[in-house]
Amino acid sequence: MAGFRLFDLNPEQELAVRTTEGPLLILAGAGSGKTRVITMRTAFMLSQGIAADSILAVTFTNKAATEMRERLAALVPEDQAKKVTMSTFHALCVRILRQDIEALGYKKNFSIYDEGDQMGLIKKIITRTASRDEKLDPHVAKNAISKAKNNGWRAPEDDKTLLGAVFARYNADLKTLNAVDFDDLLLLTVRLLNDHPAVQERWQRRFKYLMVDEFQDTNRLQLDLVSLLAKPHPTSPEFAGMRPNVAVVGDDDQSIYGWRGADVTNILEFEAHFPGPTVVKLEQNYRSTNFILGTANSLIKNNPRRRPKNLWSAKDGGEKVKIIAMPDDRQEAEFITEEINARKTAEAQKWEDFAVLFRMNAQSRQVEENFRRLRVPYRIIGGKSFFDRREVKDILAYASCLLNVDDDVALLRIINTPARGISDTTVEKATEYSIRTHTSVFKALRDDRFLGALRAATQNAIEKFAAFLDEHETKLHEPLSNQPAVLRKLIEESGYLADLQRTCKTPEEWMDRERSVRDILASFETFEGRSDKGLQGFLDEMMLRQEREDDKEDDEGGVTLITLHASKGLEFPHVYLMGVEEGVIPHDRSKLEGTVDEERRLLYVGITRAQRTLALTWCRQRAKYGSVVPCISSSFLKELDPELVEHRDVGDIINKPVAEEAAAAKFGAIFDMLD
Ligand code: ATP
Ligand code: MG
Repeated sequence: MAGFRLFDLNPEQELAVRTTEGPLLILAGAGSGKTRVITMRTAFMLSQGIAADSILAVTFTNKAATEMRERLAALVPEDQAKKVTMSTFHALCVRILRQDIEALGYKKNFSIYDEGDQMGLIKKIITRTASRDEKLDPHVAKNAISKAKNNGWRAPEDDKTLLGAVFARYNADLKTLNAVDFDDLLLLTVRLLNDHPAVQERWQRRFKYLMVDEFQDTNRLQLDLVSLLAKPHPTSPEFAGMRPNVAVVGDDDQSIYGWRGADVTNILEFEAHFPGPTVVKLEQNYRSTNFILGTANSLIKNNPRRRPKNLWSAKDGGEKVKIIAMPDDRQEAEFITEEINARKTAEAQKWEDFAVLFRMNAQSRQVEENFRRLRVPYRIIGGKSFFDRREVKDILAYASCLLNVDDDVALLRIINTPARGISDTTVEKATEYSIRTHTSVFKALRDDRFLGALRAATQNAIEKFAAFLDEHETKLHEPLSNQPAVLRKLIEESGYLADLQRTCKTPEEWMDRERSVRDILASFETFEGRSDKGLQGFLDEMMLRQEREDDKEDDEGGVTLITLHASKGLEFPHVYLMGVEEGVIPHDRSKLEGTVDEERRLLYVGITRAQRTLALTWCRQRAKYGSVVPCISSSFLKELDPELVEHRDVGDIINKPVAEEAAAAKFGAIFDMLD
């Protein structure tokens, strides 16, 4: 490693890379090399002899974590790169909890509940807690619980309200089921490190160098986690005079998770938490042309209360930013597809060089259809369709039951899929019994007092099912067991596939569903090939992948379709940002909630993803909830520097004879310009 050179770094970046000891704050604009500094700094630390496994870099999405790992792998030998921990907050928490959660009274084989699992549990609790005249929307309850967990761990209201009661019951039930939800991952890790100094010390000895990318999007708990890992316990003799090795990078203009409890003061007041940091500002943007960067700057300067920045780029030339009016969303999708095709050929670009950005997942449907029809390869990031598939959830539920049979949500999903003589009424009775005796459904099913009251045939069915699970569970835990083979066999012997086939309406549907079952079993095999964490590790990875703004398993190339939120940190030569309409961005709700500034930052994030060309499109009308509604362009478009953008109507670009409708649209565009 002695040959490592800090080539291609500007002086400020080099300062940040060389400052390996003590707190470091890098506050800089988009595309200025923040993430690059993190990977180069890691490589530099390795070259200085710092142990690879003592370095921890955290970020928000799997995509970003993977990208960091790839960038590092290009700089240092593979065995070194592999030992550095580069992960998401959630993955880090799972790792800590899998090792130490027993201190909190959970078992190590805890299940992780996603939003769907959470909703199922909450709905059930509301039904059995609410009196006849009380009503509580389960979504409202879920959001309130999530918010409360992210602010600490007290009930949202005092316990007398229905919400308070549901919240308390929900937590108690999770514990009985030996399950945690996504918010718990952070909350419990913070509680663990906070309440158990010995555990904290062990993890501190493990990770001596911490880095956090996109720090502007951390919430209170994430900041607490970083502090707990970085700072000695106040009772420790090392507490006085310590200078934790914490490096954070971020951009206050790209803070877009306020709605999820992110607190931008974490970065603006970094010094309060980690006194005396080295502060580095990066001002050169290496990503975008001046047309694109200037457009972004003209937008973001309309936000009050921001730290002014002086972001510049040496990339002159290129094309103006295009703002294109579309008659409707169908033509918007057609235009984007045609343009990508044309540009790819004319400029010899790769599919991967293009990205289509949008505010909401539903907006991508039209584009997707066009891509499929014209055989444009693509991948969707920020959608979680794969994991929403019933068969995928079923397979994962079978797997969860092998590991934690007390996981009621998983058990109830598969207990009678395929039908095995355990009726809904039996399941209901078992659930009631489990609630009364504070135990899991599975334990209830095996309780003689419960079993005794059932018909002999039902007793038999239950015992057969329990024995079936037991048998595979034992096989799974045998030394040298081939776990993927055990899971495959479990699925085969359960009769699940035949049942799945019966429920499919067409042969195509069956082929499609069977394929995703095969895919998921195959990806467990691939996982086994590269990891020693077994089925538990595989499930963890699957659960973490479906995290809200994250990508599905799909390494194939193609045009990227991605939500604005998920696009943070990424870059593409050519970007199409669609649906830039009033009510979409800024979103209708934002005006009521006073979050227009965050909407502006979201658009800023989108614009600054583009390296060479950028087109913003908006529609005069679009299909919404089954009807066609008229739209107007986003008020943000009027803030963009007119010198750097060019307004076009789609009719001019695709050289069709100007139809009456298009002519009207054209006048509309001219009026917009005059506005
Ligand atoms: P964002 O705010 O979007 O997360 P960032 O500040 O993390 O952006 P990077 O993604 O690290 O920026 O860098 C943006 C681009 O600029 C990357 O392609 C990177 O390789 C390039 N880059 C960064 N610094 C330099 C440099 N000194 N010389 C050449 N290219 C650079
Ligand atoms: Mg970055």
